[in-house]
Amino acid sequence: MTTNASDRYSRQKLLAEIGGEGQQRLADSCAAVVGCGALGTMQAALLVRAGVGTTLLVDRDYVEESNLQRQVLFDERDAERGVPKAEAAALALRRANSAVAVVPVVKDLVAANAERLLEPADVILDGTDNYETRFLINEVAVKRSIAWIYGAAVGTHGSIMPVLPGQTACLECLFDDAPRSRQPTCDTAGVLNAVTSLIASLQVVEALKILAGRAQALERRLVTIDVWSGERAALRADTPRPGCPTCGQRRFARLEAQSAASARICGRDAVQVPARDRPVDLPALAHSLAPLGEVRASELAVRFSCPPHALTVFPDGRAIVKGTQDLGVARSLYARYVGD
Ligand SMILES: [Zn+2]
Repeated sequence: MTTNASDRYSRQKLLAEIGGEGQQRLADSCAAVVGCGALGTMQAALLVRAGVGTTLLVDRDYVEESNLQRQVLFDERDAERGVPKAEAAALALRRANSAVAVVPVVKDLVAANAERLLEPADVILDGTDNYETRFLINEVAVKRSIAWIYGAAVGTHGSIMPVLPGQTACLECLFDDAPRSRQPTCDTAGVLNAVTSLIASLQVVEALKILAGRAQALERRLVTIDVWSGERAALRADTPRPGCPTCGQRRFARLEAQSAASARICGRDAVQVPARDRPVDLPALAHSLAPLGEVRASELAVRFSCPPHALTVFPDGRAIVKGTQDLGVARSLYARYVGD
């Protein structure tokens, strides 16, 4: 029995759908996985084992015990040590396949960095858990003409939809009036691990079609499956909706609005971190920061010095970080001292 490296993908090359040529295309391609949770870890595991040349893993969270039920690349040691998910996933993936590149990016995907981070990708896989980031991915994908695969799972059901910009419907085409902010989440409604791994697997099938040069076989519907009841539904998504603000009018409101909101404050050595959905409890924040440095608190703001930086945090979660012009540094300080 030979065990040389060329045998690694032999079962995949046997498939008429992939073949030797498709395998070479996979080796030459780059996939971005946004979010290393239940969907993202399964997507990354399949892509890396399938021989995709470069896989980017974008996630800013840390492994917790409650992740282990469904996030297949992590173990108890990762949760005990609280390591960043992207780093822990990359380590596990490199043990599975050292012949491809796995690039962890421990960052929040936001308007200010989304285009730069996703620019190398030939396909983007949605491993997120929120519609704010999904619509941001949708705008980057349409603007830069990168295919992406929407996926979502909660409870016992989930959905997928590939987006091929200019050819199929985009997320905005289908969801323009959806009550995005009131969707149940895995944190509130729970989720079965079999449904996240199923949805992630279906997303990877579509990604492999694109990367292997078989986009003609792409699923051009929004497919929804409930694994418990067995119910399935599909909605046609094979054409863009006329007048869609994103893929029709090419207006990228989220990219532009958030870029403006998080832009440097001109003339000063400071960056603004925009408000989040959740307000900040200022007295509690002041209390938690007091052992770490000089804190000045009022009902309007908490100012915290951590030389050479200083953070001023407002009740709506907005913050001004002095001592830098780098939004990444500002966000990282914000994450460390204020939290999510
Ligand atoms: Zn559209």
